[in-house]
Amino acid sequence: MAITKDQILQNAKDLDVEFIHLQFTDLNGVMKNLSISYEQLEKALDGEIMFDGSSIDGFVRIEESDMYLKPDLNTFVVFPWKPQVGREARLICDIYNPDGTPFSGCPRNILKKKVKEAEDMGYTMYVGPECEFFLFEVDENNYPTLKTHDNAGYFDLAPVDLGESARRDMVVTLKEMGFEIEASHHEVAPGQHEIDFKYADALEAADDIMTFKMVVRVIAQRHGLHATFMPKPIFGINGSGMHLNQSLFKDGKNAFYDPDGPYELSDTAYKYIAGLIKHARGMAALTNPTVNSYKRLVPGYEAPVYIAWSPKNRSPLIRIPAKRGPSTRVEMRNPDPSANPYLALAASLAAGLDGVKNDLEAPPPVFSNVYEMGLKEKEEQGIDSLPGTLKEAIQELQADELLMETLGPHAQVKYIENKMQEWDSYRTKVSQWELDMYLTTI
Ligand code: GLN
Ligand code: MG
Ligand code: MG
Ligand code: MG
Repeated sequence: MAITKDQILQNAKDLDVEFIHLQFTDLNGVMKNLSISYEQLEKALDGEIMFDGSSIDGFVRIEESDMYLKPDLNTFVVFPWKPQVGREARLICDIYNPDGTPFSGCPRNILKKKVKEAEDMGYTMYVGPECEFFLFEVDENNYPTLKTHDNAGYFDLAPVDLGESARRDMVVTLKEMGFEIEASHHEVAPGQHEIDFKYADALEAADDIMTFKMVVRVIAQRHGLHATFMPKPIFGINGSGMHLNQSLFKDGKNAFYDPDGPYELSDTAYKYIAGLIKHARGMAALTNPTVNSYKRLVPGYEAPVYIAWSPKNRSPLIRIPAKRGPSTRVEMRNPDPSANPYLALAASLAAGLDGVKNDLEAPPPVFSNVYEMGLKEKEEQGIDSLPGTLKEAIQELQADELLMETLGPHAQVKYIENKMQEWDSYRTKVSQWELDMYLTTI
């Protein structure tokens, strides 16, 4: 049941909440906070709190900088960790223009628009994210190192160490904040972990991802560790992905399930897969938005490289997990946790709906290991690969009309501008690899 303004005011009072963080996410996927005190909560709930939008990366020009924060009442939550005095709570907000219309450059508004389009077609998108991250030790100045505490591997029963107890604390804290945790385990690489929470509709799932990342960082810090969602912090071992399990529901039923369809998948599922495949290259700049993202998408580390799908195999971009019935879903395996979840989900939904609306046909599934196929075999089967660099990904995004339209006029310009700057800053730096390669040989 939806919570009312009065209930929030009462809750905040009963729980001795002194500060409320009004949270929103910028285009780069970074969470921003405007903190208010309890006395201003009513005004905030009425959507009357203003902030200077020009101070936020990728938002607005100076001359139109007054923006409004409109909280989503359903996102009210009191932080379980206690500061010295009082307590803190948060509300996730949408950004509104001074004239009362939703600001088109706000990632949450961008996702909401797509969700509405799906709803108009009778669909609800559900998403179950699998967020991976590393826990690193910090040095005496509290600066993150690349040292981990353990040598445990996937699902190993590692001896109780700092990382394990930090992860347990994360799970407990998330539960206190209303998360239903489905699984939590050590990942393949040393110091790497995964915590999976229950699927939710697309908007809630994106909010959950932002909250999850905040909680993981805060709790890691309390254990003297640094949590990173950087996709590939260490060369030569697995990187961190954020697999996105997606399904569409119609009339309360999973629209991807058909007991009589091939692999018990419905027509809708095949069309959705076709849409994801069609737009995979264009989406990469949103699902894998950093220079570092492309260091993860290489053969040998359980991350996808080739654009293919399979009902069995783990290696391709899209996998169909074994569960059927209400749990039928497609798992997109290239997204990583540096993605802005609102934009990554808006893009996925746009791509999937394109498949459904336009009756796109999915290519046949791939059963053999794509990594072992020769170039010719891949070509024969029409298997393309994901972009190899952020630059290539940006170009693909620019060329994808549907995704540009999904971002809308403001975000498409700003996002591409930001990402090009990021690429240029990387491109012009001289790296250790170049020194090792050329300093003494040329
Ligand atoms: N870490 C792998 C990735 O980058 C996934 C490993 C797994 O979940 N099996 O996507
Ligand atoms: Mg997993
Ligand atoms: Mg995993
Ligand atoms: Mg997975």
